[in-house]
Amino acid sequence: MIPGLGIGPARPVQLRHGLATRPATAATVRVLTGADEAALGGGNGPGGEHWVTLVLATAVAELGGSRPEPEELRALSVGDRNALLLALVASTYGSLVEWVLDCPSCGERLDAAVDLVELLGDAAHAPAAPRPPAGLPAFRLPTGADLEALAELLPAVPGPAVGDPAADDPAEQARRLLLDRCVTAWHTVDEATVAAVETTMAATDPLADIELLLSCAACAAPVPAVLDPAAELAARLTPHRRLMTDVHALALAYGWTEPEVLALPAPRRAGYLTLIADGEAWAGDQ
Ligand SMILES: [Zn+2]
Repeated sequence: MIPGLGIGPARPVQLRHGLATRPATAATVRVLTGADEAALGGGNGPGGEHWVTLVLATAVAELGGSRPEPEELRALSVGDRNALLLALVASTYGSLVEWVLDCPSCGERLDAAVDLVELLGDAAHAPAAPRPPAGLPAFRLPTGADLEALAELLPAVPGPAVGDPAADDPAEQARRLLLDRCVTAWHTVDEATVAAVETTMAATDPLADIELLLSCAACAAPVPAVLDPAAELAARLTPHRRLMTDVHALALAYGWTEPEVLALPAPRRAGYLTLIADGEAWAGDQ
């Protein structure tokens, strides 16, 4: 570590559910360094639930007072895993997420933005979900382990179902596999009851699927904006080629070694690169 270049404090995250095995609703995530980015961006590229578990194993410094085992990170609800991913994005790359969307009604281009720290704060202070209606089958919330299992059974599960859900629709297959794992004897109840279970699950773990409802500035139509925490992180990870050029430029300018440069998070590297560029501009002015 370069003296005086600490990478900032770990960020506390309040989880809604934590673990069943021990009290663990308070977590901290640490900032990703360049070395972390190199490790997480390697192989076949980021993505998928196994990758999310790897990310969390890298970045979750503390869960309920101790460093979590990978099995514990798999056992967290999907919403809790998303909260940790969003905190990681906020602490490493900044808390503002921006999109450009097209209004589905009038086609107007919209700029959308959300502050992840505010979103996490709102989620942590949200009231508990209402009691589920009586007579529902027993269920538990889907976890990272469930989504990992689904990814193995359905290697190419796409996003939400489009059009009529059919048995051979991969999204519908994924839904049924998840019901098999999480809802007792769901086949024996009617579709409305299954839908009530799914609504209750979504209300109990609101960060599992994050959809923000925006309003079109031109026609006032509601515009849904989906926030995918894993995709937001994957989009921000510095590519390998860029890591190499960062090492090259900072090693030349400051004489730092590769491990010293890669111990810095991306915004710190960018800050020094800006100083170098400014310094070259000053030198050119004289
Ligand atoms: Zn519109």
